[in-house]
Parts: sequence; C-alpha cells; structure tokens
Amino acid sequence: MACPSVGSFLSIHNMCGGMIDKFGSDDLRAKWLPKMCSMETVVSYCLTEPGSGSDAAALRTRAQRTNEGYSLTGNKAFISGGGYSDAYIVMCRTGDDSPKGISTVIVEDGTKGLSFGVRERKMGWLNQPTAQVQFDDCLTSTDNLVGEEGKGFTYAMAGLDGGRLNISAGALGGAQAALDKTLIYMGERKAFGKSIDQFQALQFRLADMETELQAARIFLRQAAWKLDNQAADATKYCAMAKRFVTDTAFKVANDCLQLHGGYGYLADYGIEKIVRDLRVHQILEGTNEIMRLIVGRALLAERG
Ligand SMILES: Cc1cc2nc3c(=O)[nH]c(=O)nc-3n(C[C@H](O)[C@H](O)[C@H](O)COP(=O)(O)OP(=O)(O)OC[C@H]3O[C@@H](n4cnc5c(N)ncnc54)[C@H](O)[C@@H]3O)c2cc1C
Repeated sequence: MACPSVGSFLSIHNMCGGMIDKFGSDDLRAKWLPKMCSMETVVSYCLTEPGSGSDAAALRTRAQRTNEGYSLTGNKAFISGGGYSDAYIVMCRTGDDSPKGISTVIVEDGTKGLSFGVRERKMGWLNQPTAQVQFDDCLTSTDNLVGEEGKGFTYAMAGLDGGRLNISAGALGGAQAALDKTLIYMGERKAFGKSIDQFQALQFRLADMETELQAARIFLRQAAWKLDNQAADATKYCAMAKRFVTDTAFKVANDCLQLHGGYGYLADYGIEKIVRDLRVHQILEGTNEIMRLIVGRALLAERG
C-alpha cells in the first residue's frame, strides 16, 4: 500500500470488524459485517482518552446501565475516523476500576449525546480525520454490547494483536515504495560525472535497506502465522513484529529521503510524505515502548 495513512485507517476499521466477528452476537455480526466488508460502512475504534493512552485500562468513560440501554459519558481522544465513521466501538467502564470493569459497546453515528472535537492538525496521515469523540448521556441499546460485560478490555487487546500486524504491513508498504522510488532516482541523478547508484558507499546503503526490509517482511509473516494459528506466544510475536517492522520501515524511509538529497525534502518527490506518514506507526496501536514492555513481560513469564 503506497499510502500508509489510507491503509492504516483501513487497518483500524478491520480491527473493529474482527472484534465484532469474534466476540459479537449473531445479530451484531449480521447487522455490521457485510457492509463493513464492502466498506459501505466504516467503524472507528475508541480506546484512548485524553488522560489515558498507554495505560489504556485506566480509561474513565462510563456506561451506566438504565432501563433504556447504556448511557455513556466521557471523552475519547485521537480517534481515527472521528466525526466521519458510521459507528464507534467504545471501550467503557461498566464496573469497577480494574480492567475487568471494562465493556465494549457500539454507538451509531447520529445517536443523541454523541459529538466530536475539531479535526486534529497532524504531522502526517493527513487524508484521514482524527478527532475527539465525546459522549454526553449518550444512549445506546444493550443489544449493542459486544460479547459479555466486563470482558471489553480483553476484546480490545485481542483486536490490537491483529491491528499491530496491519499497522506494520502499512509501514512496510510505505517503506518499500520509498525504496522503489529511490532505486529509480539513483539511476537518474548524476554527481561527480556518474549516476549516484555507482558510488559503492550508496550501494551498501541500498543493500542494508533491502536486507532490513526483507527481514521485517519475513518476521511480520511469522507473527501473522502465529496469530492465525492461535499460537500461545502470538501476542508476544505481534508486539515484536510491530516494534521491529515499524522502526525498520521508518528508518528505511528516512534513509531514502537522505539519498534523494534536497529533492527528498520537496513534496513533489513523494518521499517526505512517506516519512511523515510512517512516523506515527511507531506511536499508535501501542507505542514501541509498550511493545517492549509486552515482550519483556512475556519473556519473564516464560522463564517462570
Ligand atoms: C494519528 C493518530 C491516530 C490514532 N488513532 C487512534 C484510534 O483510532 N483509536 C484509539 O483508541 N487511539 C488512537 N490513537 C491513540 C494512540 O493509540 C495513543 O496516542 C498511543 O497509545 C499513546 O498514548 P498517549 O498518546 O496517551 O501517550 P502516553 O501514554 O502519554 O505516553 C507518552 C510516552 O511515554 C511512554 N510510556 C508510557 N508508559 C510507559 C511505560 N510503562 N514504559 C515505558 N514508556 C512508557 C510512551 O511510549 C510515550 O513515549 C491515535 C493516535 C494518533 C497520533
């Protein structure tokens, strides 16, 4: 995917579809999945809040059960598709302050009490809207509960395993597009009487970028295989792949910009956009520091 921001928004939408498919009732699956698959309906994932990102289980948006359904009050931050999507999958508190007090509900666009902040101004991912999503006594039917009450945090984390692979795949595609452009450019650009691809120092840079991207691709596929096959260590592999692939992809894209010289910095060549777009892949769906935390904890648990 040459445009990482479109691919990555799709990734978040797909993550929501996966959660409904795996954990939702038959009615929810029948209602949402066909049109989500055809992209007639777009759904956003609402976990992050202004006061809690990495520490997602500290979320405070509350859903009070009433005779009419769940009444939601609270704010979600940085929501991809906020103000644009047809529905929002919301992680909210129905019980105590622990992760077991969190549930997942769907709120449809147009619901009374649902509103949005202004569209955020960002470094990259400019063709997808990001906004706060606000709930003010926002009533959604109990039929919109995904799975069971109190299991929402588990569902949200399960969704993220696959989401992290998608985010990685988008980063890999962006970096590959940058490398492809760079190979062509280096054959055309001349310095000191020859094309710059004839300098051995730069050929070595190309060799390193190709090697690192191939290693990232193979690792990503292994993590995807683990997830597909429900391997016990799938979560650890998804975290390792997300950290490694998104760091590698950003570094490759940034090196490609360098190999374009001053032209790499100009919008016309399309490289600076890829660099700007890929930067956020190291931050969202769990920062790369949080990926290290997951891997470190898994290692200690395996050691016993
Ligand atoms: C463009 C964009 C789109 C997004 N889309 C969505 C979306 O659709 N849905 C959604 O729910 N969220 C979304 N997010 C939010 C994103 O997932 C969070 O920004 C991210 O999880 C980090 O949370 P935070 O910004 O609160 O940073 P913080 O949690 O405040 O972290 C700040 C820094 O501290 C580090 N840190 C925190 N805790 C630890 C620790 N224990 N050990 C080591 N380091 C730590 C972090 O790695 C980071 O470097 C989006 C963000 C962006 C920028």
